[in-house]
Formats: sequence, structure tokens, C-alpha cells
Amino acid sequence: MLSKKELPTNTQYKHPKKIKGRFAPTPSGDIHFGSLVCALASYLDVKSAGGIWVIRIDDLDTPRLKDGASEQIIETLDHYNLISDEPIYYQSDHLATYREFLNDLIAKNLTYECECTRKRIRSIGGIYDNKCRNRKIKNGRTSIRLKINDQNEVNTFSDGIYGLQQKESYRVSRDFIISRKDDIPSYEYSVVIDDFIQEISYVLRGKDLIFSTFNQLTLQKSLNIDAPEYAHIPLVMNLKKRKLSKSDGALLDKKNFSMNLYLALELLGQNPVEELKSATVSEIINSATINWKRENVPKVFNKHAT
Ligand SMILES: [Zn+2]
Repeated sequence: MLSKKELPTNTQYKHPKKIKGRFAPTPSGDIHFGSLVCALASYLDVKSAGGIWVIRIDDLDTPRLKDGASEQIIETLDHYNLISDEPIYYQSDHLATYREFLNDLIAKNLTYECECTRKRIRSIGGIYDNKCRNRKIKNGRTSIRLKINDQNEVNTFSDGIYGLQQKESYRVSRDFIISRKDDIPSYEYSVVIDDFIQEISYVLRGKDLIFSTFNQLTLQKSLNIDAPEYAHIPLVMNLKKRKLSKSDGALLDKKNFSMNLYLALELLGQNPVEELKSATVSEIINSATINWKRENVPKVFNKHAT
């Protein structure tokens, strides 16, 4: 049984407005400098406004998960005083809830089964063409897509850092997958449900997810649930000018937490005072919370990770 709070709703239920943000890593390895910058920015942004900050572990994409990575991430964040204000939420504990909301979308006739392969979608240029919309498929293991129509589509939003965003500027799929062939809820679908259940009012994350916001807003409209505000920050690049990733081996220097925080604040345009380089982690976090200015976050980071 779902708790009352977790029941899907298509009526007038609205969450009370309070400032609440989250950091939601995938436990595929320890966090690197790029994820520290993201976690820190989301933390400071809500804390400077007196809000609540929580950690969510995005552990649905089972092929990518690594044993022990969740504990490692939480421990690393702990060293930086980035501590969840609520018990940590694991997506894998909420499969029944994802199913309930999916049933709601099915009942609204907003879904269909699609058996197209990745190969086929690549062959038509990478953007799905809604081919299966009007087909009846009976062989079971298919993915499920959301039907986008004039009533539920969201084409624009105002980003907290990049300003007005238009869907037409991005290569965004048309009807998109909400449940994968292996029965795992898609990223876009699960985070919408999580943000709703956790009453997240403010999402700050890396710019590589900006395009996905349109689909998330479309899902929220389809489910008739409130959308959080969204803000995206630039990505930390590696020496090859690609997004820093775990495979770069750019894991954080575990001996110098203060310096890592200082460098992250510098990158985020917060102009930390020189003395903070040798301050304790809690002194840096306190000072950064008091002095946080979202408007100082640059649209591009002009330094790469070393
Ligand atoms: Zn299809």
C-alpha cells in the first residue's frame, strides 16, 4: 500500500511551497570534481535561502551501478559537510510508486508501447518519429512512451541561470520513453515522480540535462503536478574539452577538502577570499552560504579540471 502522500493525484492537491533542493548522483563510482561543484552549488543555493537540501541516490539504472558506490558518495559528501537534511532517498525503494503513476498515465490514454530498436532510431537521425503511436503490440517486452499533444507539451521554461529556454533550440525527442524495455522507469520519468514525492521546489544540476527539462515539464503537466523551478550550471570539462567523467580518473584529492571547496567556489564565480584556502570545511561552507550569489555563476566555466 502506498502512503497517502505517495498516491498519484490528478485533482487539486498542491504541495506547500517551501524551498527544497536535492543532489541526485548515480552510484556508478565515487564523485569527481564536477559532481562536487554541482552538489555544492545546489546546496548553497537552497541553504542561502533558508531551505532544505537532500541527497537522492539514482540507483535504477542497474547496469551502471557499482557496489559500495552509494556509501562512498555519501561519505565523500560528508567530508565536505554536504549532509542530507532528511534520510537519504533511494529510487530503488519506490518502484511501486513509479508503477502507480504510470497506471495513471495509461488510464489517461497518454502512453503507448514501442518496440523500435536503438538501431532503427539511429537510422532515422536519432530523433524518434512516433512510429508506434497507433500500433497494437502484443509481444510484451516493449518500452512505453508518453504521447505528447497540444494539451501536455511544454516548449519553454525560464532557467534560473540561462534564462528563457526554447525546446526548438535543442534536439529533443518527440514521444519519449517513460518505462524501458527492461521495465526500469526512464531517468526523465523517475525524477519527476521523485521530485514530486520529495516535494522538491528547486532543481539545480549540470547543463547536460537542460534539454531533458522540457520532457520533465511535459510529464508534470500530464500528471497535473506542480513543477519545481529549474536552474542549470555549466559543466566542468576535462583537458580534451569534454564533460569531466568518472572515467577521467579525476577523483578528488582526499587530503585537501578545503582546497577542493575553494576551487569549486572560484569556478562558481563566488570570489572566495584568500584566507578560506586554509580555513576548515565548516568555515568555508558557512562563509559560502552567507555570501552565495547565484547571479555570479558564469554561463561557461573558463577553467578545466586539472
Ligand atoms: Zn516505436
